[in-house]
Amino acid sequence: MRIILLGAPGSGKGTQAQRLQKDLGLPQVSMGDLLREAVVSGSELGLQAKIAMDAGELVSNSIVLEMIKERLSAPAAGSGYVLDGFPRNQIQAEGLDVVLSDLGQVLDATVFMDVSREALMKRLTGRRTCSKTGKLLNVHFSSQQDLDECIEAGGKLIRRDDDNEDTIRTRLGVYERETEPLIAYYRECGLLQVVDAETSADEVYTRLRKVLVGSRVTESD
Ligand code: AMP
Repeated sequence: MRIILLGAPGSGKGTQAQRLQKDLGLPQVSMGDLLREAVVSGSELGLQAKIAMDAGELVSNSIVLEMIKERLSAPAAGSGYVLDGFPRNQIQAEGLDVVLSDLGQVLDATVFMDVSREALMKRLTGRRTCSKTGKLLNVHFSSQQDLDECIEAGGKLIRRDDDNEDTIRTRLGVYERETEPLIAYYRECGLLQVVDAETSADEVYTRLRKVLVGSRVTESD
């Protein structure tokens, strides 16, 4: 079972990938997380990636393609995965096709998570992580009780470096220019499923599971 979650920053790809991981045992392969790990490690690659990430631009195709190749060849990817944040442009999509064909792997579905730009802005500007519990919260949408719980536990509501308004606008522009055309690419490949993702995470998950049952992906695969 190999799935791509396609969507803008803030469309909920990470949240849904984590749920699929928990329920179906499919490892989440988040390119953003892999890059953030590289940044924390302080490697040369991490330093290069950080410059693009802080600016809200894409990290170079050669770097991310090399990383994805390594990750998808690892034993942990043997029984499938959910790709979250990869591919993000045409070159990456074509590069992924080559990697998959070299590895003898076939994609089961690409799910486009559809959210309006207005809602994306609100989700991204309000997004916070509790430093104590790691819980994902949103100052616009989380209940006061959930927000207080973090503070009372001695935590802080941390905003990701690239979740400030200027960088968010750049990231959404990059998405529209570079990533959105992949919707047509995967539609032409006959792999595209669309989920209206402008609702609660629980409801989106229900919709996601429904379209996956309609594609080649089922729990018993
Ligand atoms: P994300 O956590 O998916 O929002 O990604 C955070 C940042 O990591 C993006 O704004 C990019 O700078 C970088 N990034 C993530 N995935 C990719 C990718 N497939 N290609 C290039 N850069 C990426």
